[in-house]
Amino acid sequence: MVSSDISEKLAALPGISHRVDQIKHLVDACIQCGTCSASCPNLDFMDMTPRRMWRYLLAGRVEKVFASHTFTLCSSCYVCTLRCPRGLPLTEAMAELKQAAFALKLDQFRRSRLFYAAFMENIRQYGRVREMEMMTRYFLAVKNPLVPLGYASTGARLLKKNKLQPRLPSRGPGKLAHLFEQAHRQEH
Ligand code: SF4
Ligand code: SF4
Repeated sequence: MVSSDISEKLAALPGISHRVDQIKHLVDACIQCGTCSASCPNLDFMDMTPRRMWRYLLAGRVEKVFASHTFTLCSSCYVCTLRCPRGLPLTEAMAELKQAAFALKLDQFRRSRLFYAAFMENIRQYGRVREMEMMTRYFLAVKNPLVPLGYASTGARLLKKNKLQPRLPSRGPGKLAHLFEQAHRQEH
C-alpha cells in the first residue's frame, strides 16, 4: 500500500524523482562495508541500517527507502561521513532524502515534516529555538489533541526546572529572513 503510494507520487513528481537519482549518485561508490551503520549513534532507533538503506537506494528500490524512517532519524553528526572509507557525503545524502520525502508529502512523514517546519520557522524568526512557541506551532499544525498529551509530562518537568520560558511570539519577517531567502534563491 505504502510502496504503491510512493511509486505513484514519484511518477507524478519527476523533479523529485530526478533529485532521488542525484542522491543515488552521491553514494554510488558504496562498497557495503557497514562502517556507517556501526558508527551511527542513532542506529538503535532506526528500522533499517544505513548500509542496507544505501543498498536499496543503489538497487533502485526507492519505495523501500521511503517506507523506512531511518533517514529521518539522522541527527547530522557527520560521524558516518568522516568514517566512510569511500569518503561519501552520507550526511548530505541523508539530508537530501529528508527533503525529498517531505516534498513527496508522504503520510508516514507528516509529523516529521510539520515538526521540521515549526523548527525552521522558529530559526527564521529568532535565530534560535523558542521551545514553547515551536511546540505550540507544531501542535496546532498536527491537529491531533493526543499529540500534545504525549509531551505533557516532559513539558511539566521542564517548566518545573525553569527550562521553558513562555513569551509572546514576535511579528515581522524574522532575524534570519534574509538568509532563508538567499538559500531559497540558491536552491531554485
Ligand atoms: S561506510 Fe561508506 S562504503 Fe561503507 S557501507 Fe557505509 S556508505 Fe558504504
Ligand atoms: S550523520 Fe546521521 S546517519 Fe551519519 S552517523 Fe550521524 S546520525 Fe548517523
